[in-house]
Amino acid sequence: MTDVSQTTLRKSISCAGIGLHSGSEIHLTLHPASADSGISFVRSDLAGLAIPARYDLVTDTVLGTSVARDGVAQVATVEHLMAALWGCGVDNAVIELDGPEVPAMDGSSEPFVFLIECAGIETLKAPRRSIRVLRPVSVDHGDKRISVTPAETLSVRFEIDFENPIIGRQVFDFKGVNGYFKSELSRARTFGLEAEVAAMHEAGLARGGSLDNAIVVGADRVLNEDGLRFNDEFVRHKVLDCLGDLFLAGAPILGRVEAVRAGHQLNNELLHALFADQANWCYDDELPARRRDSGWSDDAVAAIA
Ligand SMILES: [Zn+2]
Repeated sequence: MTDVSQTTLRKSISCAGIGLHSGSEIHLTLHPASADSGISFVRSDLAGLAIPARYDLVTDTVLGTSVARDGVAQVATVEHLMAALWGCGVDNAVIELDGPEVPAMDGSSEPFVFLIECAGIETLKAPRRSIRVLRPVSVDHGDKRISVTPAETLSVRFEIDFENPIIGRQVFDFKGVNGYFKSELSRARTFGLEAEVAAMHEAGLARGGSLDNAIVVGADRVLNEDGLRFNDEFVRHKVLDCLGDLFLAGAPILGRVEAVRAGHQLNNELLHALFADQANWCYDDELPARRRDSGWSDDAVAAIA
């Protein structure tokens, strides 16, 4: 069992940026929130309607992950901010927005990590409740798959395999230890193929997408003038996306994730599969009782409690 306390932000902090979908400017403010309230979005342009950052409110996973309530109040592209909150160990926050999406910033989590660090982290008088995976769960769609198995910490092994030779096959194995998210993942940007980006712009999609907030990959080169931030920036970003999507579980997950060619849709389906059966998981503080129920001796329970 962990004896780590829940956290929130020390003070409110704001930024502004362009939305990937709309191309218009959106203002974002991160606010402190009380223990056990989790992460939620508030649309200030919709009379302050609140939308909890939860996997079962995900409505769209095509160009990023969107959550919505009542079919009207939507917040799109939540994953890079969610990843930053997870990476910085923030359990509770209210995210206020005056539009339907989180600003794209530079296409990575780094600007959000910077904001969180500027605000500072406040420890709350309540223990953190992590979600412990108790038995393997997996989701397969053809050559795409993702699974989670029991483990003491969250780790993600991700593999991508693109025909485009600049991306190609890349593997990254992320261990969720202190500081590793910020140094190894937070700066990895989202990416798109030049032809796909052109087709999306043609169709009026991703209006805010540009070389300022995404890596654009041509047939034989990266179009961004400054190139890549890491040689394997593509797969690092996929891990970042996965961590952000998984934080929509409502609490940090303790488990070993392995993904091949997965994306927002599979990340979300994994959470649905995990929570579909109460035997798949428990909160960390319920573990001793669970183990006693499944026939462990009192000594064994005491040893892990
Ligand atoms: Zn992303």
